[in-house]
Amino acid sequence: MLLIGSHVSYKNDTQLLGSVREAISYGSTTFMFYTGAPQNTIRSAIKNDLTTEALKVMMDNGISLDKVIVHAPYIINLANPDKEKYDFSIRFLKEEMKRCDSFGISYMVLHPGSHVGVGVEEGIKHIVSGINQLLEDDTKVMILLETMAGKGSEVGSKLEEIKEIIDGVENKKRIGVCLDTCHLHDSGYDLTNFDSFLKEFDKKIGLSYIHCVHVNDSKNERGSHKDRHENIGFGHLGFDTLLKVIYHPLLEDVPKILETPYINKEHPPYKEEIEMIRTKKFNETIWDAWKN
Ligand code: FE
Ligand code: FE
Ligand code: ZN
Repeated sequence: MLLIGSHVSYKNDTQLLGSVREAISYGSTTFMFYTGAPQNTIRSAIKNDLTTEALKVMMDNGISLDKVIVHAPYIINLANPDKEKYDFSIRFLKEEMKRCDSFGISYMVLHPGSHVGVGVEEGIKHIVSGINQLLEDDTKVMILLETMAGKGSEVGSKLEEIKEIIDGVENKKRIGVCLDTCHLHDSGYDLTNFDSFLKEFDKKIGLSYIHCVHVNDSKNERGSHKDRHENIGFGHLGFDTLLKVIYHPLLEDVPKILETPYINKEHPPYKEEIEMIRTKKFNETIWDAWKN
């Protein structure tokens, strides 16, 4: 079965149940969510009755919990040399992993972080020691390092950097990677020959570390380091390249998550994008009615 979905919202009054319903409305077979707003760290207590109901709805709709992904908020930065901010990130992520655990979710995607001037090597040291602290907990949550576009001082835009972080992590069973197609392209990787990219990834890191793929087109040329997502088929990666990623046999069991922008900032594109992906047919006029 094709594991495809998108990031969905998470609202305080409906929590996981609302996220599941939104995912189903797009025809998704999996999904990703933030346990609150992506850009802040305000989080509310999990209501168990909503979780129970959500799990039932998932079961009825053939969505398997063990492929569902939580994304940590953007502002969390384990590469930050500022002690107070770093400690806050650790404290927040410990709670976030407990939240994942109470949902029964196994994967938390994390942006490795931005070194904000101290340099990549120093940044990586902070990230490694942070992750090692986090993995001392008693949850089963695996941290998935997202490949980054290399905007500003972002760490993790090169496979070598991701590899260096993994090398420093003691508990290798709970560290993995989330590939983001837009970020890889913006960072300079050529995905048009995806087989050879996977070969390179396998040689440098190992394919078994990949547990999530963010499927996004890119508004910019390869190597731009911009990180601006485009709707599927409308960017510099293009429909055919993204299809090759989505349907690659070596990534069959890995959930594919769309993080493409809303049309006109109001209409979620996921139902239509998932439909185009399923039928493998690109419709270049699909958004015409929305763009005026
Ligand atoms: Fe991300
Ligand atoms: Fe992403
Ligand atoms: Zn991005």
